[in-house]
Amino acid sequence: MLEDMTSLKRQYSTIFAHLSVIFHADCAILIWYTDGMNWIAPLMEWYLRSMRDLPWRRTRDGYAVWISEIMLQQTRVAAVIPYYERFLRKLPDVFALASVDDDRLHKLWEGLGYYSRARNLKRAAGEIVSRFAGKMPQSYDALLALPGIGEYTAGAIASIAYGEAVPAVDGNVLRVYARLFGMERDIRDPAFKKEVRAFLLPLVPTDQPGVFNAALMELGAIVCLPNGAPKCGECPVRDFCAAYREGRTAQLPVIGAKRARKIERKTVFALTIHGGLVGFRRPEIGLLAGLWQLPETPGELSDAEAAAWLGEHGILPAGELRFYERKHIFTHIEWHMRVCSAEVSAEALPEGWIVLDESHALPTAYRVCL
Ligand code: SF4
Repeated sequence: MLEDMTSLKRQYSTIFAHLSVIFHADCAILIWYTDGMNWIAPLMEWYLRSMRDLPWRRTRDGYAVWISEIMLQQTRVAAVIPYYERFLRKLPDVFALASVDDDRLHKLWEGLGYYSRARNLKRAAGEIVSRFAGKMPQSYDALLALPGIGEYTAGAIASIAYGEAVPAVDGNVLRVYARLFGMERDIRDPAFKKEVRAFLLPLVPTDQPGVFNAALMELGAIVCLPNGAPKCGECPVRDFCAAYREGRTAQLPVIGAKRARKIERKTVFALTIHGGLVGFRRPEIGLLAGLWQLPETPGELSDAEAAAWLGEHGILPAGELRFYERKHIFTHIEWHMRVCSAEVSAEALPEGWIVLDESHALPTAYRVCL
């Protein structure tokens, strides 16, 4: 029976990770084991001692914390730093963000990817101006109601900038949690994330909620690394860690299979007129909405088909057509591109096509074609 209970505890519920089982006569009595929570103090002490000096950690301004948290989603810390600093210089407050021209906003975001984050920032800033007179909402619930702000981001802003005792559960926290408590649950499962959040909620210290959340994330980012290579020798919570104790750090966390990405094949035309790149604006909805793109057509055209396609669009190559392959990976889609590159001339470009300049944000998906 003890083996059954241990197996159950490992596999099925976060809650079981915080319970002890006492067998008495024919009954199993479950009790909370609170001593398992002693990991919090060493974790926070470690963070305060050894946290990385990052620009967004030098402020508790809600606007700045918000911008940093959105930029850090799916982007590495080192890559974010220059973007964050330039963004705050150019758009220093909610009013500036709410009224920024779309092209200028995209230009500030160019290279960071996932442009919907930038568009949602602007939409949310508009709401903050219209509904809150430009003052950042300070509660988790009010933040959560804004466009582009989910549970994690609302938790991070509310705790770090405004001292609300709410958790912020990101991928780093899920990994640390799964290892710390030896949980064999799929950390991609939304139900698990919900359970982790519910478990952490009463544990967030009311005096330093931001430090607690930042410490958990920092541990995942620089010590409890993914891919079976945690630096347990440097870990402040090693004495409490089930995965370390049981030699399961390489097996945890369990990560369910990703859905296979859809592959889209296309031919992209990198055309220049007197050295200026030809492009046009994408539709206002869908992938890379409102950004600029290079001309393209579905499918991988042969050399002859590509030349014919140019002719159909009234474009004359001024020299040889060059062909090469490029690939760009989005979260759910891969673009496999055959690129046709040439200096060209045209009496009149098709409607909406222009020669781009530095003010036009060209997403990385197209930049790789140059
Ligand atoms: S002891 Fe190792 S596996 Fe456990 S939390 Fe620390 S770094 Fe992660």
